[in-house]
Amino acid sequence: KQSLTIGLIPGDGIGVEVIPAAKEAILALGSDVPRPEFVDLVAGFECFTRHGTALPDETVRVLEEECDCAIFGAVSSPSRKVVGYSSPIVDLRKRLDLYANVRPVTSVATDPNQKPDVDLVVVRENTECLYVKQEELKYTENGKEARATRLITERASRRIGQMAFDIAKGRPRKHVTIIHKSNVLSVTDGLFRETVREIPTLAQFTGKYDDVEIAEQIVDSAVYRYLFREPQIYDVMVAPNLYGDILSDAAAALVGSLGLVPSVNAGDKFIMGEPVHGSAPDILGLNIANPLASIRSAALMLRFLGYVKGADRIDRAVDDVVREGVVLTPDLGGKGKTTEVVEAVLKKI
Ligand code: NAD
Ligand code: MN
Repeated sequence: KQSLTIGLIPGDGIGVEVIPAAKEAILALGSDVPRPEFVDLVAGFECFTRHGTALPDETVRVLEEECDCAIFGAVSSPSRKVVGYSSPIVDLRKRLDLYANVRPVTSVATDPNQKPDVDLVVVRENTECLYVKQEELKYTENGKEARATRLITERASRRIGQMAFDIAKGRPRKHVTIIHKSNVLSVTDGLFRETVREIPTLAQFTGKYDDVEIAEQIVDSAVYRYLFREPQIYDVMVAPNLYGDILSDAAAALVGSLGLVPSVNAGDKFIMGEPVHGSAPDILGLNIANPLASIRSAALMLRFLGYVKGADRIDRAVDDVVREGVVLTPDLGGKGKTTEVVEAVLKKI
């Protein structure tokens, strides 16, 4: 491929401050990636207040027809209900069928030759569970009553399970933990659990997953017993949408900051990088948002596209900056500005 067309969707809040860092990091790679061409696209709450839609059809069309991949910043979704507004990231994942949200959470070892304390990947189902957003409110004689539909399908559970097994296969430990709550939700989480469990059996004639070990845990005790006390036991964690969302924010606390954790939204035809954090309105405009999650998301996207050398160069530069600790943003205990951290990473690349 001669060139790589990358859609950039900064969104709202600090998304606007950190997405340029991802772009700069890719540009700094030179010939280790096909010549990048960036396309600026809009989505988000501000877009909604201006244009009446949080996700313009034009944005989706350009992504589908013109882009090879994309990087999304963050959106501000109000906690109160706003008529006509719907989170564009949730919609985009569905419209582009980005069925997996892959979130590696890795600490940086003080000695580059040592193994990191935390080195896990949350593989989050990205299209269903409670995020189908089918909610209803009824007025009964006892007051208001709200209901939500939680959708779990065999198809989505199988493909997210396969993604988890494929990722585990490429890692040294080759270990998958299924996260669920099927002791209570035996039908929905039961289907998720059984479907993922059955993947090695379905592949037994090829032997594809024979070397991948499988374990399972109930979501609440997974957090209490292991994630916060013995995170080393995890390699790949696969979970339905909501548990995966919560687990990855929790795991981010283990490595110091949400501002470090990248993700990709992956489908069979499209890859979109996205820092795990949100729009962080509390630090907006101060030039102190940590750009490393965004930069690592660019690397992860390149890795999924097969540009491993470029991805490695970015990841190594980020690790070096974190390890040296000279220029870090306040979320990591430093006094650095966003722009200074970006400079430091670019120099290393
Ligand atoms: P958040 O992730 O925006 O922030 C949580 C905390 O982490 C805040 O204190 C914030 O300052 C800090 N933080 C996050 N990213 C940081 C970074 N790069 N550098 C330094 N500190 C960082 O979550 P929130 O406060 O619960 O939500 C704020 C808004 O973001 C809401 O409107 C929410 O809907 C939205 N949100 C969007 C996404 C997304 O776009 N995928 C994800 C989560 C939240
Ligand atoms: Mn989240």
